[in-house]
Amino acid sequence: MKIIIIGAVAGGTSAGAKARRNNPSARIVIYEKDQDISYSGCGLPYYIGGKIPLSSIIPRDPDYFKSKYDIDVFIRHEVLSIDLVSKTLIIKNLRTGEIFTDTYDRLVISTGASAFRPPIKGLDSDSVFFLRNVQNAIAIKTFIEEKKPKKAVIIGTGFIGFEVMENLVARGLEVTILERAPKVTPNLDPEMAEILKEYVEKKGVTVLTHANVTEVSPKGAILDNGVLIPGDLILVATGIKPNVELAKNAGILLGTTGGILVDQYLMTIDTNVYACGDCIETQSIVSKKPHYRPLGSTANKTGRIVGENLSGKAISYPGNLGTGIFKVFDLTIGTTGLSETDAQNLGYEVIVSHDTKTDKPQYMGGHEMTIKTIADKKTEKLLGVQLIGSTGVDKRLDVFATVLSFGGKIKDLINLDLGYAPPFSTTKDPIHYSGMILEKELNK
Ligand code: FAD
Ligand code: NAD
Repeated sequence: MKIIIIGAVAGGTSAGAKARRNNPSARIVIYEKDQDISYSGCGLPYYIGGKIPLSSIIPRDPDYFKSKYDIDVFIRHEVLSIDLVSKTLIIKNLRTGEIFTDTYDRLVISTGASAFRPPIKGLDSDSVFFLRNVQNAIAIKTFIEEKKPKKAVIIGTGFIGFEVMENLVARGLEVTILERAPKVTPNLDPEMAEILKEYVEKKGVTVLTHANVTEVSPKGAILDNGVLIPGDLILVATGIKPNVELAKNAGILLGTTGGILVDQYLMTIDTNVYACGDCIETQSIVSKKPHYRPLGSTANKTGRIVGENLSGKAISYPGNLGTGIFKVFDLTIGTTGLSETDAQNLGYEVIVSHDTKTDKPQYMGGHEMTIKTIADKKTEKLLGVQLIGSTGVDKRLDVFATVLSFGGKIKDLINLDLGYAPPFSTTKDPIHYSGMILEKELNK
């Protein structure tokens, strides 16, 4: 059995490592067009901020995969095409220019995603950056250290925009963050997004919504009303798009969201080809509808399942909630499941609760967090949650995500038997209160 994997970051290397454990005798080869492998993209903002060394986020190289798993990883090798009938790949060695073929019994496509390039003039300017991989992060950090920019403009208020903003502020830059939409951050409903915006503004960062950038230059970003937002470093963080051209050109079907279509076993329409990570479309556990929620957490899980199924197992992937968490200065923002906007668009009869409670008693140093829950009036099931606060948010987010994963209802929130002692929580936890408010709404 010969397994070829395309892409060597979170999805591809997870699939390879798992496949090796199940198939001691298989030949496993990974082709990766870049030079860095198996790194934590999630640590890149903190490397830019000077908080962690690069070595801590790229712990492995091809030698490690060879000695630990007997997997041959070929870096700077781009797969140019896939022939599903003859199970043959055409590959280019990007160092030498040599083009050659290789054949597989089973293929894994884990080609990930690329930063989206919005239709803005001047994106190729030397002071304009995207952040998707290690080389992008090195370029940004080098620019900061060599050119010593004083002002930065970040276009996009998603997770990357805010995480990098915090790290640029830590390096002493004055930051303006621009968002085209009327509110910041894609997964937050407007009133929750406003809490985040006000907090960031209080920290001295300028946040502009309804900001439509038409052009960038070494002087800054120009909006459609002609106003120049000065910045000698510009980061474009306006989302990502799945790398699906290779799969599409081979005849592999894509889903309605643009990611590669896979079944519950993460198999594509070709029974010899699996796909995992940021290049696939998944299914929402809540709505059961297809969605595109690319995250490192999901890439690792789907990679592991593909590794299992390559060896003849039939492990199914249940879909995901798109649970996301990020921090900005002392604030933690968490979202899971559907937003109110999503739920309404999907036709649910929505009830919501808003509540602000401390994560533990004030005498134990508790801090307030704001929780919004969204539930379905008809089935009484929880649909989604958004949380913003300084401490204890991660714990509540994960409990809510667990409740959502098992199709929990409003009454389940009220009855959860959560641990209580003053150093950890309040007698009635903020989660219980959210359930009680939803129940009141239900009975109105
Ligand atoms: P990728 O990381 O995109 O890797 C795919 C690889 O395939 C690439 O290296 C690419 O070069 C290679 N490839 C593509 N086409 C070919 C080809 N034709 N031939 C050969 N090789 C090819 N997620 C979280 O869950 N939590 C976080 O805190 C978090 N923080 C993040 C912070 C930043 C700054 C970034 C950029 C991402 C963050 N993410 C986070 C997202 C996470 O990094 C991604 O979800 C994860 O990297 C996806 O892994 P992947 O293997 O599917 O895809
Ligand atoms: P994103 O999709 O999270 O946010 C992009 C933002 O840019 C949106 O608010 C969008 O409205 C805005 N935008 C789009 N076009 C614009 C334009 N022309 N002008 C101004 N604003 C514009 O994308 P991202 O922040 O680039 O992150 C990419 C991926 O990395 C996401 O999948 C994210 O989940 C993942 N990531 C996750 C974490 C985490 O889990 N903590 C951290 C960083 C990145």
